[in-house]
Amino acid sequence: MKDRILQIRKDFPILQQHVNGNPLVYFDNAATTQKPLEVIDAISNYYTTQNANVHRGNHSLSQLATTYYENVREKVRVFVNAKSSTEIVFTRGTTEAINLLSKILAKGTIKKGDEILVTEMEHHSNIVPWQMVCEEIGAILKVLPINTKGELELNKLDELITNKTRVFSFAHVSNAMGTINPIKELVATTKSHGIISIIDGAQAASHIPVDVQDIGCDFYCFSGHKIYGPTGIGVIYGKEELLNQLPPYHGGGEMIDKVTFEKTTYNVLPFKFEAGTPNIADTIAFGAALDYVNELGIEKIAAYEHELLTYATGKLMQLEGMQIIGTTNNKTSVLSFVIAGIHPTDIGILLDKMGIAVRTGQHCAQPLMDKFKIPGTVRASFAFYNTFEEIDIFIDALQKSMRMLK
Ligand code: PLP
Repeated sequence: MKDRILQIRKDFPILQQHVNGNPLVYFDNAATTQKPLEVIDAISNYYTTQNANVHRGNHSLSQLATTYYENVREKVRVFVNAKSSTEIVFTRGTTEAINLLSKILAKGTIKKGDEILVTEMEHHSNIVPWQMVCEEIGAILKVLPINTKGELELNKLDELITNKTRVFSFAHVSNAMGTINPIKELVATTKSHGIISIIDGAQAASHIPVDVQDIGCDFYCFSGHKIYGPTGIGVIYGKEELLNQLPPYHGGGEMIDKVTFEKTTYNVLPFKFEAGTPNIADTIAFGAALDYVNELGIEKIAAYEHELLTYATGKLMQLEGMQIIGTTNNKTSVLSFVIAGIHPTDIGILLDKMGIAVRTGQHCAQPLMDKFKIPGTVRASFAFYNTFEEIDIFIDALQKSMRMLK
């Protein structure tokens, strides 16, 4: 990766920009990633030469758009190693994916008095939909705690899982700490208790290989925009058998087989879960993003990002008053930290003035912040287009900010 970094950076036009008079250092990749030209061009090409509705027209343009669109489903299947592309359902993103799953599971699978298990490190999008289901049907939300390093307390699983537990929904990687959870172990536990497993892979898919057959999970969700694709496109992988058993989510065109005023029958997978005109342009561009990532190689990306993380962690730890939140050994390239006596937002504002984009705040993980008794963190999150030089600039700017704020 290192030897190709200059070329790689040229593929991302936004990285050439100056922000507040300084070259942009973009360290907010956990929020969203930047897009290579291939992705930007795919959107423009689609509207210039391919635009038509999919699945419903017999004319050539509609068939062309359908082919490009469905090719992406196959690319996603290969990317996560699903058995069949019918197991790949397109959504707007991870948030919609988890909402969809929670709503369809609440129609018969989860009943009053049943229990849903999540973890203490979840993003709000893997907490709130379940709370809404609990309120609606009288189910109970339970939480697997974490330790001070930001690791799951696996020894608590046995006491938390009961014969009422129906679903265990957990992050593959924590967005606020970078912790990589032992998902195979967690899925094995769910299987042994007959519990449905749902994995929030929003922070994993762009950093580490995902093989859903190897993991053995029932559902795996992620977002296109966090893996160099456009916003507005996401994925649910679901086991075919389960998706077939579950009821549809939205009603409308595309998801039906036959409609009469008396009764409607539903389409086959995956269309049963994709009512209405989908986000065709962004799906096609998402395919271009997967091609880009595949060309670089996810294993190489993981190795390079790990080097960046190690380098930055070493430098950060030398700073006075530094507390890194999330200190497990098994992490993606997320560095969340607080500095004694300084509010994270103040650091973020000063870094921004120096052209450095980091995220500050609670990272949509308020319960996690409460756990650590902090108002929020500064989060620097790296991607394969970031460099060691950028980390040096960041550390210098951080030291300058600390001097100004103390
Ligand atoms: N889950 C995790 C762990 C995330 O980090 C995010 C976004 O930051 C989401 C879910 C929600 O993803 P989206 O906003 O793309 O729907």
